[in-house]
Amino acid sequence: MKLSEVVGHQETKDRLSELLTADRLPHAMMILGPEGSGGLPLALAIAQNLVCERRSGKKTEDAGLFAAPSMFGDPAPVIEETGPLSDACGECPACVKASKFIHPDIHFTFPVVTVKSKNSPPVSSDYITEWRKALADNPYMNAVDWLQQITDENKQGNITVNECHEVIKRITLKSYESKYKVQIIWMAEYLREAGNTLLKVIEEPPADTIFILVVENIEQVLNTIISRTQLVKLTAIEDTDLASYLLTQFEITDKIALRIARISDGNLNAALEYAGGAEHQSDAMLREWLSLCLRIKSPQAPEQAVKLFELVENLAKIGRENQKIFLKYFLWFLRESNLIAIGLTSEKLEGSELDFAKKLATLLDPDTTDRLNKLINKVHYYIERNTNPKIIFMSTSFKIASILKKEEVVYDGYE
Ligand SMILES: [Zn+2]
Repeated sequence: MKLSEVVGHQETKDRLSELLTADRLPHAMMILGPEGSGGLPLALAIAQNLVCERRSGKKTEDAGLFAAPSMFGDPAPVIEETGPLSDACGECPACVKASKFIHPDIHFTFPVVTVKSKNSPPVSSDYITEWRKALADNPYMNAVDWLQQITDENKQGNITVNECHEVIKRITLKSYESKYKVQIIWMAEYLREAGNTLLKVIEEPPADTIFILVVENIEQVLNTIISRTQLVKLTAIEDTDLASYLLTQFEITDKIALRIARISDGNLNAALEYAGGAEHQSDAMLREWLSLCLRIKSPQAPEQAVKLFELVENLAKIGRENQKIFLKYFLWFLRESNLIAIGLTSEKLEGSELDFAKKLATLLDPDTTDRLNKLINKVHYYIERNTNPKIIFMSTSFKIASILKKEEVVYDGYE
C-alpha cells in the first residue's frame, strides 16, 4: 500500500513522508488509533516506502538507473519530484511484493489461536496464508474479524512468547533484498506479558530495522513497551475523507456516502459494512421494531408478540457485527429525530426515513431521548460482549415500549 492510498490522515502522512525522505524514521513506532481508523494500512504504507526501490523524493546514489535516459546527456536528477507527497512508486519489484504481503524483509506478527495439530504454542507464521488473504480483503479489519477467519470457536487470540522469540530470530538475520527490515506487530495489546521478551530489541534494534506496533487500546500495552516507542496518534477518519473513499468503492450518492460516514464515527471498517448492504436493512428493521414495540401493549398484543418474536429471531441471525451496526444506526436515527423533536430540522434524512423520524419525534422529549440513548448504548455494550442477542433484544423491546409510553423501566439485570 502507498501512503497516498491510506484514507485520510493527511498531516500524519505528510510528516511520515518527510521523515522517510530525510531517512530519519524512528526505529520503533507505535501507531495508536481507534478501530477502523487505519493503523494497519499506515504501517503497511510505511513498510512499502522503506523497501521501495524508486521512492519519489528518496536520495539514492543509483537514481540514474531509473531515470529516463536523456537525449542530451543531462545528468539524471538525484531527487525525483512527483507531487507534494513523496511516496512509494507502487510498481517496482519490491512494491509489488510488499503489496502482496510477500516481501521477505517485511515481517508480520499478529494474534493467533492454538493450532490443533501442533504441540508447541502457535506463532504468526502458522497463519500466514490466511493473514495475506485477510489483508488483501480488508486491511481496516478489527481483531474480531481476523480471529473469526482463523477459528470457528469463540477463542481469544494471543501473541505468544514463542512468536516473540521468532521476531528476535528474524530481525537478527541480515535483510534479504532491501536495506531495511520491517517488523509490524498488529494489535500489540495482545502481547500482554510476553512483550517483556521484546523490550531489548525494541530499545536497540539491529541496524536498519524498524519496528511498527499497531495499537487500538494503549492502556492494555505494557508501559515498558510504550516508553521505548515513538507514538504516532491517529484520530478517527474525517467524515469527508471517509465519504470520498466510499464513493470510489460503491455506487452510492454523495449524500448517502456522507451519511454512512457520519454514522460510522470515522470507522472505515464499519462504513464498509454499512455501505455493503447492512445499512439499508437497518432502516426498515428499525421502523418495524419500534412500531411493534409500541403495539406490544395494545389489545392486539398476542398477534404483535408473534411478530416481535420473529423480528427478534431475525435480529439474532444477522450476527454480532451487523447487530452493532443496527444499534449504531438506531442511535444516529434517534439523534436526527431528536433534532425534529426540539424544533430543528434534520439535514440528513429524506423520504420515508424523514416521515418516520417525524412520527418518532412526536413521542420524544429530552428525558425520553436520554433514556432511549442510554438504553441502546447499554445494549451495544452487551452485544459487544457476546450476550445472548435473543434475550437482550426481547427484553429491550419491552423497555423501549415503556420508555416511549413514559413508564418506569423494570430492572432485569441488563441495566
Ligand atoms: Zn516501489
